[in-house]
Amino acid sequence: MRFAELADGYERLEATTKRLEMRKILSELVKPLGAEELPEVLYLSQGLLRPEYEGVELGVADSLARRAVALATGEEERSVAEQTKTSGDLGSTAQELLTRHRRLGDVEPLTVAEAYAELGRIAAAKGEGSQDAKVRTLVELLGRSTPLEAKFLVRFVLGTLRVGVREMTILDALAEAFADGSKEARARIEEAFNLSSDLGLVAVELLKHGVDGLGRIGLEVGRPVRPMLAEREPTLARVLERMGGEAAVEYKYDGLRVQAHVARDGTVRLFSRRLEEIGAQFPELLAELPRAIRSRPTIVEGECVPIDPDTEEIQPFQEVARRRGRKHDLERLREEVPVALFLFDILLAGGTPVHQEDFPARRRRLEAIVREGDRVRLATQRIVRDVDSATSFLDDAISAGGEGVVAKSLKAGSSYRAGARGYWWIKYKRDYTAGLMDTIDGVVVGAFQGRGKRAGRFGAFLLAVYDPKKDRFESFTKVGSGFDDAQLAELPRRLERWQSDERPPEVETGIAPDRWFRPGLVLEVRGAELTLSPVHRAALGAVRAGAGLALRFPRFTGRYRDDKGPSEATTSHELLEMYRAQVRHAVSETPPTSGG
Ligand code: AMP
Repeated sequence: MRFAELADGYERLEATTKRLEMRKILSELVKPLGAEELPEVLYLSQGLLRPEYEGVELGVADSLARRAVALATGEEERSVAEQTKTSGDLGSTAQELLTRHRRLGDVEPLTVAEAYAELGRIAAAKGEGSQDAKVRTLVELLGRSTPLEAKFLVRFVLGTLRVGVREMTILDALAEAFADGSKEARARIEEAFNLSSDLGLVAVELLKHGVDGLGRIGLEVGRPVRPMLAEREPTLARVLERMGGEAAVEYKYDGLRVQAHVARDGTVRLFSRRLEEIGAQFPELLAELPRAIRSRPTIVEGECVPIDPDTEEIQPFQEVARRRGRKHDLERLREEVPVALFLFDILLAGGTPVHQEDFPARRRRLEAIVREGDRVRLATQRIVRDVDSATSFLDDAISAGGEGVVAKSLKAGSSYRAGARGYWWIKYKRDYTAGLMDTIDGVVVGAFQGRGKRAGRFGAFLLAVYDPKKDRFESFTKVGSGFDDAQLAELPRRLERWQSDERPPEVETGIAPDRWFRPGLVLEVRGAELTLSPVHRAALGAVRAGAGLALRFPRFTGRYRDDKGPSEATTSHELLEMYRAQVRHAVSETPPTSGG
């Protein structure tokens, strides 16, 4: 395929906000592709070169890209910078400049394969002289591109390609292009993606072997599985009811979710909930896991929490947060804040895939394979059949430093549902029992200029929850309190890469902030109550026609949820459930439990 066709597709994708239309454009784009180009086009369309979990980065700073555009167009770097101020982005500037400076003579049209290979070369350039090499490759690439191609290539290398295709839309398009477009086919494609986290791999299997061939995609050590997620219920009685009167309840540890892949040779790779590789931050786990896991290759999941070595007590999450992303002083911090990994699930057991087994069987496997030690332990668990024992277990969990419990279904069908949120797991946090509202993870989609003491800075932020069905981010609150000076000073920098000139198409709100942001940064907030609102769009119309849900008196808890991507923020559905729980609380006389 010519790269021009792809660029043309991007142009059309950019021009629409309708998911159906996007699906159609995308499916037409990918349909003619072969097994070589298909994954390339899918990765490129997401602004990636490889599946996200591989973490491949191009490493092209703004200044480098600007230099390349200047060299490719014969313009002064200074003037490229000037024009970019007016046009808003370097991609558009490159497009304009190339339109103006018509080249003499013909160039071979660029193919997708060539563009992909060259971009790969840019990413691969490392070490001394790599900056120059990156610029050179980019100049060559721009030298061969049309103005429109140049626009998207520049945006791609800068990481600002904004064609708005998210994973779920790509899955829609694949179902349409390579299957019958039915719900069932779509579900099976998504399942394969949830197990492999690799759209390119799924697409190629689908192309070669059809929907039935997707079963060939299994678990592989080193390839993270998208995590299973929990629903919530407002009382333990409801939790038990949902589970059919019987459940395994486990401590809910408040730390970082970790998926540990232990290869046959003892090599360990750790993935975060967002599938980022985080092993380097936990050398003690890398060392301990091969000893703790009796049989390999194995994939287990757990929560990593700091432990006070003297008291064996679980420490507050902030201690881990402090350590995350911190490269210096790791040795010292490790002594100060050692961590333990509390394992709660197993997907691959000594080479046998067990994710499809029911939960009780998986737990038995986990118990059999894990040799507990200081660093690696099993999540504390009890089987309960009545609210009293569930409540006393919750009390234990809280006193042990947990934030609540996660109940797990024991029923047939309680397999590991990769990437799915469902009632097979139900979380119940202490906060409900205290009558306080649970925290909400909101995505920043806008900012308001500060006044008075905060003049010249942002004073408040517009937050949204995520609706996975519509693939939209719906505003639910404007938060201005809970931020300290340092946070207010650093937020513009944290938000910079998500800046947008206009309302991003995936954002729904009736409010116009001073600045828009594409969904990226997730903040944890807490508020007093949820109310109906004419201007917010969360769960619009679910309670009353024309009304969305809004959080009153929101407050930033101080916690950036860098471990969550925008689509892992609190969902509109969860917000609706919280609203309903609150209404039920208000009408019921008896508090749900005595715990907390
Ligand atoms: P939340 O982040 O509020 O959606 O709660 C779900 C998270 O709780 C999971 O993703 C895990 O990171 C964490 N968690 C802590 N303990 C457990 C447990 N025993 N079972 C499952 N998840 C747990």
